[in-house]
Amino acid sequence: MNRRCRALFLNHTAMPGGGEIALVRLLKAVDRNALDPVVVLASDGPLLHSLQQARVETHIIPLNKDIVHFSKNRLISQAIMHPLAPVQLLAYANSISSFSRSHNISLLYANSLKSDIISGLVAMRSHIPLIWHVRDRIETDYLPATTVMLFRKLARHMPDSIIANSTATLRSLHLDPLSSSPSSHVIYDGIPGANLCNAPRAEHPPLVGIIGRITPWKGQHIFLRACAEIHKNRPDVRFVIVGSPLFGEFDYLKKLEELVNELGLNAFVCFTGFQEDIQPILANLSIFVHASIIPEPFGQVIVEAMAAGVPVVATGGGGVDEVVEDGYTGALVRPGDHHTLALKVKWLLDHPHHAELMARAALKSVNERYRIDLTARKVEAVCETLLHSKMQTGA
Ligand code: UDP
Repeated sequence: MNRRCRALFLNHTAMPGGGEIALVRLLKAVDRNALDPVVVLASDGPLLHSLQQARVETHIIPLNKDIVHFSKNRLISQAIMHPLAPVQLLAYANSISSFSRSHNISLLYANSLKSDIISGLVAMRSHIPLIWHVRDRIETDYLPATTVMLFRKLARHMPDSIIANSTATLRSLHLDPLSSSPSSHVIYDGIPGANLCNAPRAEHPPLVGIIGRITPWKGQHIFLRACAEIHKNRPDVRFVIVGSPLFGEFDYLKKLEELVNELGLNAFVCFTGFQEDIQPILANLSIFVHASIIPEPFGQVIVEAMAAGVPVVATGGGGVDEVVEDGYTGALVRPGDHHTLALKVKWLLDHPHHAELMARAALKSVNERYRIDLTARKVEAVCETLLHSKMQTGA
């Protein structure tokens, strides 16, 4: 980049979800001579500490907690129930505009759906170029139809550029194919080089695991039903569920614990809760399972397992079809099909040589396509092109 760009990254939550973890990795990897990142979070939480550790200038400008915690599934209805929400959002956008002026911000970068809307309001007011990094599929299987309609409309008008974490995510936005605005780019999330290793699997009873937020759409119940089938033929196998309900889905966690009981798997399944560092768990896994019941936008955790040399069995669809080549870098199953999931896991456990070949091919693919330095260079290029075109047009 010719000129160092001071970019304001906005994120509504400070909980360590996938989008937030991806943001920290990106900001650790960007070339600070080109991009000078400043982060504003709308609430306090563990992300603040991660960003500070990464020596990223971070501020908290608090937004009303009710709005921060509006669920994606009931965004519009909650906004209607909260009549002051539009006023509070506008006031918040005003605060961000003043912050941008006082901190010489030349680019806005929104990292979450709620911050997309906020940054859009800021950009309208302050005329600062805006990038949306969209990390969710904008589809009715994931979001309410009204939210999908609204978001797709806003996507055509609010941002100057859109970065999507997969082609599946980009397609879900239904951008106008005849318009060059906003410019759109697919940039896959990247994995730090230190996570790339094909360490030999630890010697112990086979361990099959699922890692991710505890929430119904991540399909931990499907995983458990598959565990029960695997257990019938392979009582030597142990199972682990890593993660916690980050956004309040504690009822689902309770249901999972009841299901373990019902399936008679108490002695074979372990819940670890949220792990700040999943590398030690990956190092002990024989097979990694991903069981989402709706298509994933991308699925960083799958790439993390591939990067750690763990054979992967995952639900296909969405971004996962772009990441996993079925039968070569992993095995894919249909959403909700616990029976085939169990069969594929058992097959890999029974054929360790094939599992090893698959893990090696997956590691090579991560090395070639999903390194964080590649992600960072591509994001820097989008920022540079946008700023350059704005300078040309004098906007
Ligand atoms: N993760 C973690 N600890 C846990 C569970 C999950 O650090 O106990 C991380 C996981 O390693 C991945 C992220 O959470 O980096 C989840 O991102 P992904 O894109 O897979 O899913 P999302 O949560 O964004 O839907």
